[in-house]
Amino acid sequence: MNPPETDYVKRLKRLIEVSRDLNTSQDIKELLQSVVMAACELTDSQFSSILLYEAETDLLKFVACLPAYKEALKRIRVPVERSVAGWVYSNAKPLIILNTANHPMIFRDVERALGMVTESLVAVPLIFKGETIGVMESLNKQNGAHYTEDDIIILESLASQAAFATLSTLLLEEAQHSYDELKELERMKSDFIAVASHELRTPLGLILGHATFLSETIHDEQAGHQLEVIVRSAERLKKIIEDLSNVNNFQMGTARLKREFVALGQLVPKIVASYQDMAKRKKISLTAKLPPNANLVIEGDEDKIGIALSNLINNAINFTDENGHVLISAETLPGYVKVAVLDDGIGIPAKDLPRVFDRFFQVQSHLTRRHGGMGLGLSVAKAMIEMHGGQIWVESVEGKGSSFSFLLPLKPLRTKTPSVFET
Ligand code: ADP
Repeated sequence: MNPPETDYVKRLKRLIEVSRDLNTSQDIKELLQSVVMAACELTDSQFSSILLYEAETDLLKFVACLPAYKEALKRIRVPVERSVAGWVYSNAKPLIILNTANHPMIFRDVERALGMVTESLVAVPLIFKGETIGVMESLNKQNGAHYTEDDIIILESLASQAAFATLSTLLLEEAQHSYDELKELERMKSDFIAVASHELRTPLGLILGHATFLSETIHDEQAGHQLEVIVRSAERLKKIIEDLSNVNNFQMGTARLKREFVALGQLVPKIVASYQDMAKRKKISLTAKLPPNANLVIEGDEDKIGIALSNLINNAINFTDENGHVLISAETLPGYVKVAVLDDGIGIPAKDLPRVFDRFFQVQSHLTRRHGGMGLGLSVAKAMIEMHGGQIWVESVEGKGSSFSFLLPLKPLRTKTPSVFET
């Protein structure tokens, strides 16, 4: 026959039951409330509460108590100095006071708010992973009995659950808050880019239009040279705005892909031709190598593929010294068309290769910095190719040259990224 259960064993059994219930509670307020009720019941007290330290005020604030006293304690804050809760919080140690009459550490505002005289008291710290975050208290053990070590053990067990739940919730709230802030910043940044690029486009279009008109009509060599500088600078500015706006649209999921047949066999030479002047100025030989009579037709968005290829050619010329070579090739592979831009320029250090497609990334060196740019060209190219369900990559040896290649699927439109296509 089992020996009769002592009162303490009964209380421990009840503690286990209560702990199981607490595990199912979802809401933190509800959970702390249940902890307080359990503390009151298991320590056979008149009143129990949980206080948390409030960093802004350097005071302790009631976050849970018996429901009947909630309103009364709402605005009360307990000082860390000269209060029982404050002592337990600061020392991270439990405390029992058996006779509280005239005890100097009793904070009488609470008594007045509760309309209750404190006769005895037990308090334990709320600790999780070495951090004290608050205090749990029980007041006035019933029938004039005394609080003992057993009450401390029971309260500490409940307090550790309360501390764990509170800190987890706080961490979750902080993470959510940071996430919301980041999202808001991202939205503001994106709106700003959208508005700014829209507003900049119109005056820039006018500058470009008028400067181009003048350079075609004025036949003065000096003025012609100056107009050429204006047109080139305006075109650079236009490119920066387009890159910013393209990356932004892609990131915000507002980029749309047209569905059309694109003959890369014609597009590649057309784009290469548009860079001949730039190449000539640097005495760089720029050539395209395509299989004879190849049309290399894929389904996709000609403008976006054009932007990707232009950015690669632009970089190849920029990062290749005078008298260098840039070669563009295109060929069909099973299911794909492959386009490559090869140069014998300055190359990219191996440590930077994994990051060259990141937004705003630039290889930090006196050589590349001369070229200006914003570190957006390659991320735009990547976005444009990936929207087609394609892939882009780089192989490069510092001091020898680079080879940027992309694959475009012949039939990309129904598989990976259907949502970005206009119907
Ligand atoms: P940017 O507009 O600054 O050129 P990109 O995104 O186009 O930005 O390129 C990122 C960086 O990658 C460049 O700043 C440059 O350091 C490096 N890079 C890109 N293409 C080449 C290349 N063909 N040869 C050498 N370095 C290159």
